[in-house]
Amino acid sequence: MLELKLDKPFRCFANIYQARKHNDLMDQLKKGEWPCPKCNVSGRIIDPNAQCDPAEGYKMADRVTCPACEGTGRWTKKKFHAWYKKNYSDKYQEEMKQWHKKQALLKNIKNKLAQIEIEVLIDAFRDTYGR
Ligand SMILES: [Zn+2]
Repeated sequence: MLELKLDKPFRCFANIYQARKHNDLMDQLKKGEWPCPKCNVSGRIIDPNAQCDPAEGYKMADRVTCPACEGTGRWTKKKFHAWYKKNYSDKYQEEMKQWHKKQALLKNIKNKLAQIEIEVLIDAFRDTYGR
C-alpha cells in the first residue's frame, strides 16, 4: 500500500562525545581535551588564499596556522559545546519540532482522504518530483 510520509530529520551525532570523536579523525586527543572542529585537531588549515589546482584541487595547497585555535588543534569543552549546540543540537531540535508539526498536519490530511485519493496524490507527486 502506498503511503504519504515525511522523511524524519537526519541526526549527525547522537551526542557531543560522538561529535568530539568525529572531529578527532587521527585519534590524537587525550582525555579531557576537546577538538577544534575547524582544523580537526591538526592546528593547520588550507590557506584561504590558495588557488585551486585543476588536477589536485587543494591537496597540495599551502597550510596555515588555524586561526580558530591558534594552532593548538584544541578548544575548551565550553567552546566546543557551544559550537556543537549551535551547529547540531539546536538545529536538530528545531528540525524535529517542525517535523512533528508537519506529522500532525499530515495525519489530519490523511484522515480526510480515502486511500485511493492518497494513491492518486502520490502518483501525481511522483510524476512531478520523481519520488
Ligand atoms: Zn583549529
